Amino acid sequence: MSRHILVTGGAGYIGSHACKVLRAAGYVPVTFDNLATGWRDAVKFGPLEEGDLADRARLDEVFARWKPEAVMHFAAISLVGDAMRDPGTYWRVNVLGALNLIEASLAAGCKNFVFSSTCATYGDQDGVVLDENSAQLPLNAYGKSKLAIEQMLGDFGASHGLNSVIFRYFNVAGADPEGEVGEFHRPETHLIPLMLDAIDGKRPELTVFGTDYPTRDGTCIRDYVHVMDLIEAHVAGLKWLEAGQGSRAFCLGTGRGFSVKEVIAHSREVTNRDVPIIYGDRRAGDAVSLVSGSERAIRELGWTPARSDLTNMIADAWRWHQSGNYSG
Ligand code: UDP
Repeated sequence: MSRHILVTGGAGYIGSHACKVLRAAGYVPVTFDNLATGWRDAVKFGPLEEGDLADRARLDEVFARWKPEAVMHFAAISLVGDAMRDPGTYWRVNVLGALNLIEASLAAGCKNFVFSSTCATYGDQDGVVLDENSAQLPLNAYGKSKLAIEQMLGDFGASHGLNSVIFRYFNVAGADPEGEVGEFHRPETHLIPLMLDAIDGKRPELTVFGTDYPTRDGTCIRDYVHVMDLIEAHVAGLKWLEAGQGSRAFCLGTGRGFSVKEVIAHSREVTNRDVPIIYGDRRAGDAVSLVSGSERAIRELGWTPARSDLTNMIADAWRWHQSGNYSG
């Protein structure tokens, strides 16, 4: 019997990698996506159901058709800058969307739920390594909306038996090494793809956002994790739920932070080319440093972030950028 997993946001960067890995693990990923920021062409590993999380009737239809045994919920809006300008949209799309999805899932008898959360739920905590026991003090409506969903999952777990695995991502980077899917956002806002576009002449330059942060070189520090490693943790999370181990939250990062300037230096090494740079102001809402302690995922899920060496992640992203599949 086919084992269907409903993958919301399966047409996006992380969701499309999830579909690939789920397919290889013997599941049928059913993508639910409104294609607002995702790409029809990225849905290669299972069926696409176009729809919006705001549309409960459409969700009910999709649950009835495929009878998924679990949900992986990636669909969300996720740009800190936009969240600062327009918090209402973040609350509406992310929180109401998740509420509809959780209720539809429970109504269909599907009680296993894997949720894509974020280190943005922690806010800015002065250089400490963040783990599942750290206080969650989000700085912006994006982080707050994700934290609200985490809390909602807890409530539905207590009252209705929903089992959830929550993954708090640090900075996801890299691409499928086989080049079938990769990172492509429009507009692009993320450091590594923007940097590669600047190297490739697709953009005039990269702007470094802020050089006066209290860090070793004045630029922000992030913990970058390979998208394929991240998704392997999700499959392990699914198996955790299948084994009836209950609800749990896990941080996914490498425990090592790199500054923006260090990322740029690694990209020179990978591409043998210079990055045209201008130094700009800080970006509103950015935390100084976000670094993960992922020992829980390593210990309890048997996770190994084997591909998450920064040079390797940039090399995979660069290969994707130069492939015919990247249309940036
Ligand atoms: N960044 C930058 N220039 C850019 C985009 C990002 O200097 O054009 C910095 C940003 O301030 C942050 C880091 O790169 O410190 C990673 O940003 P990204 O948007 O990739 O991910 P985020 O940390 O916001 O999730």
